[in-house]
Order: sequence, then structure tokens, then C-alpha cells
Amino acid sequence: MGKIIAMANQKGGVGKTTSAVNLSACLAYLDKKVLLVDIDPQGNATSGVGVNKADVNQCIYNVLVEDVPVKEVITQSSVSNLDIIPATIQLAGAEIELVPTISREIRLKKSLEMAKEHYDYIIIDCPPSLGLLTINALTSSDTVLIPVQCEYYALEGLSQLLNTIRLVQKHLNKDLMIEGVLLTMLDARTNLGIQVIEEVKKYFQDKVYNSIIPRNVRLGEAPSHGQPIITYDPKSRGAEVYLELAKEVMASGERVG
Ligand code: ADP
Ligand code: MG
Repeated sequence: MGKIIAMANQKGGVGKTTSAVNLSACLAYLDKKVLLVDIDPQGNATSGVGVNKADVNQCIYNVLVEDVPVKEVITQSSVSNLDIIPATIQLAGAEIELVPTISREIRLKKSLEMAKEHYDYIIIDCPPSLGLLTINALTSSDTVLIPVQCEYYALEGLSQLLNTIRLVQKHLNKDLMIEGVLLTMLDARTNLGIQVIEEVKKYFQDKVYNSIIPRNVRLGEAPSHGQPIITYDPKSRGAEVYLELAKEVMASGERVG
């Protein structure tokens, strides 16, 4: 049975999508079968693995709102061993359309149940909010991986996220655990980055990954080529560190399981 990991932080621009795409691709590169689930209406994870949103007929919207089985929307990505459930801008309406529906918080969980046996990892790329889509992701997941950008105010807003995680644990998914905290976009030339690392480690302690993602031009370029960094530029520092992260994620899963 696969492990489901939600990539969540309600702040935008902290590296959720970049990390969801590249962790997924690196796990796939390490011979794991991976399903990436895009639940952000922006659909950046979808295009980031080489799927043209204009060609998508049915996406996660149809799964969540219209009960279309996931196997009908699972699409091959540009990377072997990596499939994707795409998202398009159509999903923007789901947050509101789901409100009056029955079991609105557990729709994604139910849909992913049948996919779980076919994959080693299912990675969910959340939108930048704590609304119903993110709640669906947290309810479906075994663990949540929190990307934190190495910048001033890095910890701001995290108590809100942790509070939401606690509420989900209490009411919807008592087994939800924190997978880890990933520091992203480190600019090693500044003291600020080092200070943020210390601050985040003081708060989250051994939950913080040893792999720290540097600010890396190639990581920023790769999405416009529809490729994860491991195929776009396998020798780049970004590729090396995401590969290290994938190994850390695999090792922690083995400890627990
Ligand atoms: P989120 O999904 O949390 O909104 P993204 O992953 O989309 O954040 O990242 C925001 C922007 O920063 C994107 O344009 C992305 O390409 C860029 N980016 C993310 N991580 C890095 C990095 N380590 N180095 C350089 N650019 C990055
Ligand atoms: Mg994103």
C-alpha cells in the first residue's frame, strides 16, 4: 500500500509545487511508483511534469465534484514511474461547489483509496490556502510535508497550519502525522538564511530534513520546459538535493513502517 503525503503550507511561493514535482520525480527515479495529485487550480504541478493543461479533458475537479473514478483521470507524465492526476482552472470552482455536498471533506480520500495499492507514494500538491481542498488533502494523507522558505517571517502562519492539522487529526484523520519540514530557497550568501535555519530547527527539531533546498536558477527554469530537475538538469545542485530529500523520505518511511 502506498504512502500518501500532502505538501502543505497556506503561504504561496514557499516551494510547495517545486517540491511536490521534484520529490515525486526523484522517488520515481529511485524506482518507486509515484502518483502526483495536483489539487491547486493553478495547475503548476500538472504542467511541471509535462502535461499540457489545454489537452486535459477531465481533471481532479471531475473526481471531487462529479465522482469520476481516479483511474479515468490518471495521466502519464514526462517521467517514467510517475503518473499525475492533473488540475486545471476548472478546479477553482470546487471550493465553493463542494460546500453543500455530502462528505465534502473526505471526497479525495475515498477517490484515492483505489489508487493506493498501485503506487508506493502518492504526493498531493496543495493550493495556498487552508480551505476545503487542503482539508481534503490532509484527510486523505498519512503524513504532511511542510515546505518553509528561508526568509524573514519564515515561521509566520505556521501556527495556523499546525492548528488546522490538529483539527483534522481530531475530527477527520486521527492518524495524520508530520512527515517533515523542508527548508527551501536558501541563499547561502546571506546570514538571514542561517538564522532562519536555526529558528526553524529550534521549533521543529528533528522534524527538519538535513536536505536543505538551495535557491537554484535551474530549479526555477525547469517548469517552463515541463520537466522536473532530475531530467532537466540532473547534474545541478537542485537535482542533487531533491534526490537526497527523496532518500530521506524513503528512509523515514522504512523506520515507521
Ligand atoms: P508554491 O507552490 O508554494 O506557491 P512554488 O514551488 O510554485 O511555490 O515556487 C514559487 C516560485 O519560486 C516558482 O516560480 C518556482 O519556480 C520558484 N522556486 C521554487 N523553489 C526554487 C528554488 N529552490 N530555486 C529557485 N527558484 C525556486
Ligand atoms: Mg503551488
